[in-house]
Amino acid sequence: MNVVMPPESFPLSRLREKAGVRVGATGRSALIALIVLLLGGCAALDPRYTKTPGGVPIDITYNSKGQDSRVLFLILHYTVVDLPMSIKILTEQEVSAHYLLSDESPPRIFRLVDESRRAWHSGPSVWKGHRMLNASSIGIEIVHPGYRIVGPDKQRVFQPFSKEQIDALIPLVKDIVARHQIRPDRILGHGEVSPQFKVDPGPTFPWARLAAEGILPPLPDASRVAARRAEFDTNGVPDIAWFQKMLAEHGYAVEQTGKSDEQTKNVLTNFQMRYRPSNHSGLPDAESAALLWVLTTPLDHKAKP
Ligand SMILES: [Zn+2]
Repeated sequence: MNVVMPPESFPLSRLREKAGVRVGATGRSALIALIVLLLGGCAALDPRYTKTPGGVPIDITYNSKGQDSRVLFLILHYTVVDLPMSIKILTEQEVSAHYLLSDESPPRIFRLVDESRRAWHSGPSVWKGHRMLNASSIGIEIVHPGYRIVGPDKQRVFQPFSKEQIDALIPLVKDIVARHQIRPDRILGHGEVSPQFKVDPGPTFPWARLAAEGILPPLPDASRVAARRAEFDTNGVPDIAWFQKMLAEHGYAVEQTGKSDEQTKNVLTNFQMRYRPSNHSGLPDAESAALLWVLTTPLDHKAKP
C-alpha cells in the first residue's frame, strides 16, 4: 500500500537542493521566507505529486492498466458553406467541431476544439446503442458545398471532393485513430448516426479510398455480394422488415415498424450513399439487400435466410 508523503515531511535539505539555494549566515531570514514559500508549493516540484486546490497531495506514481480513451468514434461531416462562413458558424454559434478542413489549395486544417473536450457536431445521434455521440467522438468538418439542385425536376447533384482535400484528410484521420485506438467500424458519416436529419458527407465522399488505405473495414466482398444478389434477383427482394432488421444489426437507428416508411427510407438512403453511392434512392433493391447481408454475415457465420 502506498503511503502518500505530505509535502511538509520533505527534508529541508532536499528543498534547498531543488531550489539551488546556498545559505550564508546572513541569509537565514531569506531562507525561512523561501522555505515557507516552498512548503506551500513543493508538491509541484516533485513529478509524483499534484494536489487539490485544498492542498491535499495527490500521488500520481501509479497508472492503471484498465483504461482507454473516451473517444470511441470519429464522425465526418461537410459544412455546406464556404470557409469564412464555416469558421464563423463553427466558432460563434452553438455548433462546433474538433477540426475543420478547408477547401483551399493546399488545404488547411484548423483545430477549433481541443480533443480532450466535447465538440458539438453530431447532436442527436445513435450507433449500435451508443447515443449522443458528441460525448464519445472526434468530429471533423470538411468545407464542401454538399449538393446543388439542378434541372426542372430539382435533382440533387452532389459535388465531388478534391483529391488534394482527401489527401490532407487521410493523415489527420490516421493520426486521430491511432492516438485514440478508434475501431475502423466506428469511423462514420454524420448521416449514418443521424439518418433522419442528415446525409453528410454524402455519396461523393470517397469511403472506398479510406477502406483501401486501411482506415475503414474492407468493403463487402464483391463476389459474395454478386452471389447473394443473384439469389435475391431470382427469389425476390426481402421485405422491408428484413431490411429494418439488417440495418439495425449493422448499427443504424431504425424503428422496426415492418412498414415502408420515411424513417426507413432515410436510413437506407444513408446506407446506400456509403456502400452503393451510384444509386441512393432509399428504396429497397436486390443489390442493397446483398450488400447488407454480406456486411452483417461474416464468412464463418452460419448463413442467414
Ligand atoms: Zn454534419
